[in-house]
Amino acid sequence: LQLGSQLRRAVGKGELCLYYQPIVELRTGRVAAYEALARWQHPERGLVLPGEFIQLAEESGIILKIGEWTLREACRWSTFIGAGSHDGGGLQIAVNLSARQFNDPQLPRMVARALKETGLPPQLLELEITESTAMQQTDLTLGTLKRLKALGVSIAIDDFGTGYSSLSYLRRFPVDKVKIDRSFVAELPSDRDQGAIVSAIVALAHALQIRVVAEGVETERQRDFLKSCGCDFIQGHLVGHPADADSAAEDYV
Ligand code: C2E
Ligand code: MG
Ligand code: MG
Repeated sequence: LQLGSQLRRAVGKGELCLYYQPIVELRTGRVAAYEALARWQHPERGLVLPGEFIQLAEESGIILKIGEWTLREACRWSTFIGAGSHDGGGLQIAVNLSARQFNDPQLPRMVARALKETGLPPQLLELEITESTAMQQTDLTLGTLKRLKALGVSIAIDDFGTGYSSLSYLRRFPVDKVKIDRSFVAELPSDRDQGAIVSAIVALAHALQIRVVAEGVETERQRDFLKSCGCDFIQGHLVGHPADADSAAEDYV
């Protein structure tokens, strides 16, 4: 209860911040994107992780306010760092959307506004929705995804494999990437069943022209296995921890 009312004020008090974690292309080893991850700098508790407050924000509805702030802030950071990026082409920035945000009819308008105000080219923004969010009301999902795609942004399905992995929606929805949940990566490569699942996901996604990110990659052996399956990108402690805006920008440039 206390956290809830503190969270309500946290945005206005500037206590929220974003950490950024690199997503590395396996073929080239270069940083292809960053994912923005919310953190709450609580005056007494210290750094609070999203696992402790996103659900709370979702239930109380403050997530809409937090989500709008997050999107804008991430676009601004990306514009800033893109200006100094290696090829001048800018980096992609991935932003998580909660179910409530995704189902908000104002979302496409809000995204369009954030892009316009920060000057971020739409193709550099990727929106991540979880598989369970996507599967809540599939007709609504399809409509929203089409409106978002019309803005020029790309779409990733987060935590892939943990919800109702319906294979038919991958074909129906305009999806650019799937992010294999880290629970499938953790036991690689020793667990042969997990290995079979991961390589099947990669093959399926590629057959549908969808690119694949593996989450939670912590060891070289996991990376090598993923590379041998043809996985496109990896994210995880092996290639970079989430870091605050300044440190992440410094690491990149
Ligand atoms: P996610 O989008 O799947 O993000 C990946 C999570 O895995 C992050 O946790 C990241 O710190 C963690 N991670 C990255 N590499 C590794 C690794 O090698 N090993 C392990 N064990 N973990 C790794 P984090 O930052 O605590 O975020 C948790 C979840 O909270 C995110 O999962 C996302 O669903 C949600 N979240 C974070 N920021 C936001 C936000 O701004 N809005 C919304 N709606 N949700 C957010
Ligand atoms: Mg994510
Ligand atoms: Mg995930």
